[in-house]
Amino acid sequence: MSNLTERFLNYVKIDTQSNPNSQTSPSSSNQKDLCLLLSRELKEMGISTTYSEQGYVYAFIPSNVDEAIVSIGFCAHVDTSPDSLGRNVKPRVIYNYDGKKIKLSDKWSMSPEEFPVLERVKGQDIIVTDGNTLLGADDKAGIAEIMEYLDYIVNHPNFKHGDVYVCFTPDEEIGRGTDNIDLKLFKPDFAYTLDGSEVGGIEYETFNAASAKVKISGKGIHPGSAKGKMVNASLVGLEFHSLLPVNLNPAFTDGYDGFNHLTNIVGEVESSELSYIIRNHDKALFQRQKDDFVDAQKYINKKYGYEAVSVEITDQYYNMAEKLKNHFEIIELAREACKNLNIDTYTLPVRGGTDGSRLTFMGILTPNLGTGGYNFHGRYEFASITQMNQAVKLLLEITSLSLSFVSSLLR
Ligand SMILES: [Zn+2]
Repeated sequence: MSNLTERFLNYVKIDTQSNPNSQTSPSSSNQKDLCLLLSRELKEMGISTTYSEQGYVYAFIPSNVDEAIVSIGFCAHVDTSPDSLGRNVKPRVIYNYDGKKIKLSDKWSMSPEEFPVLERVKGQDIIVTDGNTLLGADDKAGIAEIMEYLDYIVNHPNFKHGDVYVCFTPDEEIGRGTDNIDLKLFKPDFAYTLDGSEVGGIEYETFNAASAKVKISGKGIHPGSAKGKMVNASLVGLEFHSLLPVNLNPAFTDGYDGFNHLTNIVGEVESSELSYIIRNHDKALFQRQKDDFVDAQKYINKKYGYEAVSVEITDQYYNMAEKLKNHFEIIELAREACKNLNIDTYTLPVRGGTDGSRLTFMGILTPNLGTGGYNFHGRYEFASITQMNQAVKLLLEITSLSLSFVSSLLR
């Protein structure tokens, strides 16, 4: 078994699910178990590393060339999704996958008819679950690849590179991956997250994202004498929702479509509350969606003649394409590296955000690369060992190409 496979299998066996209901950093203390293992392994490799109690692991390898060249960074997240069981992961390796239906357990199986992506890994060595948990390739494939990349660099002193920064983040799955990142310890000129699916994926368009809290105060009174007096906050909440565009229900959207997603609704007569997330790749359409919330608020308050509705909108992250469009050479660098390794590239709009969305707006342009994992966040998740090995080569190739890389954003 290769080092990379062994690493990956070790990492996925550690339960690192994040917890959206926790206010601590990291949101679950078990994420620290993986952080501590990673910092121990990095130290054993002789790499300068820092572990922060908030769940971050930083690593740094200084440049081994004389001339000043760009520094490069790589990121991956230690947590796994809270959406599916993450404890007791029992990964299984299938060598030279034959392209047929895979029996995960007595109860669960995975067929190419249901999951056409299986076609993409026919003939490759893959790792699957036992049907009871997620696998955690998201994002431990990324972590294992970065670790293997660092291991290669320290064991090949003739491999030329600039300054290399690495950061493993906690709580990416619950949107807090960069909340406590220390940019004194992670300060490359630009970076890549390894948090995508098939290797060859180079993603640089994420959503613009906001959350909205809609609070409604009603006027409660005995229903027997309610005529002309009662304002039922729950009904006003339904009315508010009905004023939003119907076609922006996420169930009707894909590709570049934005959406308003009602995530929670609670209510009684006196008060009700609706929680939404607002998403769009396009900044102007994103703004229009936010305006719709305010327009609905105004309409209802006018209709009832008092401040029945309050709307609080909080921006969460923005589409990194807005910043990257002026520095496209970072995308081209990754494309060039793929080309040199005969890896087909593809680019899809990310229907979500990545740690890179926030990092990009913090000043470190950070597109996302594929890792060789598929079907994230559930029992059908799997990873291709063949592609994970390719990803390690890709990181090395990007690093090599960066030696002669001239970027408009630098110095
Ligand atoms: Zn991820």
